[in-house]
Amino acid sequence: MTIRSVGVIGLGNMGLGMAASLARAGFTVSGHDISAARRLPAEAAGIRFIPDLPALLRAADALVFSLPYARDVEAVVVCAGGLLERRDRKVVVVDTSTSDPTTSRRLAQRLAEAGHALLDAPVSGGPSGAAAGSLTMMIGGAEADLEAARPVLEALAAKVVHVGPSGAGNIAKLVNNLLVAAHLITAGEAMRLSEAAGLPAEAALKVVNAATGRSAVSEVMLPRWVLPGSFDSGFSAGLMRKDIRLAAALAAELGLDLPLAAQVERLWREAHDRIPDAADFTRMADHRQEPKDA
Ligand code: NAD
Repeated sequence: MTIRSVGVIGLGNMGLGMAASLARAGFTVSGHDISAARRLPAEAAGIRFIPDLPALLRAADALVFSLPYARDVEAVVVCAGGLLERRDRKVVVVDTSTSDPTTSRRLAQRLAEAGHALLDAPVSGGPSGAAAGSLTMMIGGAEADLEAARPVLEALAAKVVHVGPSGAGNIAKLVNNLLVAAHLITAGEAMRLSEAAGLPAEAALKVVNAATGRSAVSEVMLPRWVLPGSFDSGFSAGLMRKDIRLAAALAAELGLDLPLAAQVERLWREAHDRIPDAADFTRMADHRQEPKDA
């Protein structure tokens, strides 16, 4: 079925940019956010703000979620008078939230029973990628549902990877973000070592980025947000902690002992006073700060 209108639920750092990308691609876009304060930025971006969530869930041809936690995704899926009661067409939900794979599978099943579909479609690329429609999207779900949602996915992402069945997109995202969480810590420690030994971080980074120690943290995050001290990537430390917790919970559920991952989880948790949830996540790589609270 043709998709003409898209409803975006969650108009934060990522969702607002996605809504704007969808509108630019020619879709009629409406949005909803639990916070009424998101109405102004949404309208400034040309997005119609719909305070009545069930009305939006019943009207749009396709839906894109960009929500903080799995529990928020669940609340929207089961919202009274919304999707579970809708029968006029099959709606594919593209859930771009980083969420837990078990919840994704369970909600995909519930929606399938109501004649709809949910793709877990977490993203990488940050608010700038969302606004430019150039995200990388990792998708869990059925091939036919991905194909049905393809025009929506193409408006949002430069790269769409079908990882596997329901839940696989979120597994891939948690694996990715566990690495990012660890890399931020090691990059910060490596830059502290360099400066303490008399080599400025900028000079060390030039070498790292031309050698084997490089990563997205060293190539993008340090030069863009850490060394200049701007710390305005648009991804909060709180949401990164959520991703690490989800990765740790997945390891525990599988009975895996991952000693370094456990250490990464502990360091992020204990850094809470120094780097509160509202702070930018790139602060974790700030080599100018003591890594432990005194
Ligand atoms: P954000 O906090 O900026 O935005 C989330 C928005 O959702 C907020 O405006 C909030 O009011 C709204 N919201 C919360 N509960 C809601 C509900 N029940 N119904 C409707 N709206 C609700 O977060 P963000 O940075 O945009 O991240 C969104 C998702 O994308 C998260 O799962 C995050 O982990 C993931 N993500 C973020 C980035 C990034 O760089 N910011 C990158 C990749 C993935």
